[in-house]
Amino acid sequence: MRFGDVIGDETLKENLIRMVEQKRLSHAILFREEPCGGGLAFALALGQYVNCRHRSDVDSCGTCPTCNQFQKLIHPDLHFAFPVNSSKDVAESQKGRPISDHFLDIWRELVLNNPYFAEQDLYEAIGIDNKSGNISVHEAKRIIERLLLRSFEANYKVMMIWLPEKMNQECANKLLKLLEEPPAGTLFLLVSQAPEKLLATIRSRCQLMEIPPMTEEQRQSLPQVISQDPAEYRDLLTGLIEAGIAKKLIDTFAIWETLSDMGREKQKEFCLYSERFIRKLYMTSQGLEQIAETLPQEEMQIRDLASRITPGFYEKALSAFDRTLSAIESNTNSKLTFCDLSNRLLLYL
Ligand SMILES: [Zn+2]
Repeated sequence: MRFGDVIGDETLKENLIRMVEQKRLSHAILFREEPCGGGLAFALALGQYVNCRHRSDVDSCGTCPTCNQFQKLIHPDLHFAFPVNSSKDVAESQKGRPISDHFLDIWRELVLNNPYFAEQDLYEAIGIDNKSGNISVHEAKRIIERLLLRSFEANYKVMMIWLPEKMNQECANKLLKLLEEPPAGTLFLLVSQAPEKLLATIRSRCQLMEIPPMTEEQRQSLPQVISQDPAEYRDLLTGLIEAGIAKKLIDTFAIWETLSDMGREKQKEFCLYSERFIRKLYMTSQGLEQIAETLPQEEMQIRDLASRITPGFYEKALSAFDRTLSAIESNTNSKLTFCDLSNRLLLYL
């Protein structure tokens, strides 16, 4: 990301560039942002700027091989840590110790789509939206491992930590020494919404940069987050269920076309969302509404559908979605996968 593409305060951009030019950049910077305040965008632009091979005194070039890899978030010297938790997507063997690496593809898609997403958007995207994320000691170990490796090709090895306030004590303690004496050429970029929750010893090792709140005009120009409102997924799923109940095969066609044209990560998100929705339907049908964790915007629809769905549907539908998830993982033809899913749902209702 170039500074020119960051929606945010122009003076802060100039200050950051001047710090790099005058070699006054600290090895650890702590950005404080409001939720969705653009901290990640500033951090990405700074990481790219310090490493760009042809940077000017106003921005990175955006076209050199380094910029190219930074813009796709795939540069080998660009590392991320962010709050996670165990989810369905993580292999059984890793369940007890989920780390950011397990969710890197989803993270990249989310950031590339819109670096101004909210904490909840991340949790929804990685399928842990009923739990809150944290940064554990396993993550700290991974960070240390990575930073002790020699940098591949960049000037700086960039370690970005989003919401470092989600680090637990053990993790923070483990990272302290590294923050105090980082390996040469390491740049820590922490983006926090609550720096006061960080250990004072961590805070004192970082240079604090405040991100000014966005103007109304800047807010208006923010891109939309795909997973901010799962209404799209809800409409697709309930459309399939309604068509199934009415046995209208033709109504399912448009929906499976839409599903099969979506990107792979979105398809996975849709399946995971659908599984959560179906579990809520099941619990509601069993009179367990109080533990179904239904969102207010879903309530009416869930009650209505739960009263009309045949009891045998839920279990079979969940395994159909599991099968669809495996098919997406193994790159099976998308049209066939979703045609099969739609047909099965129709059959089970
Ligand atoms: Zn460049």
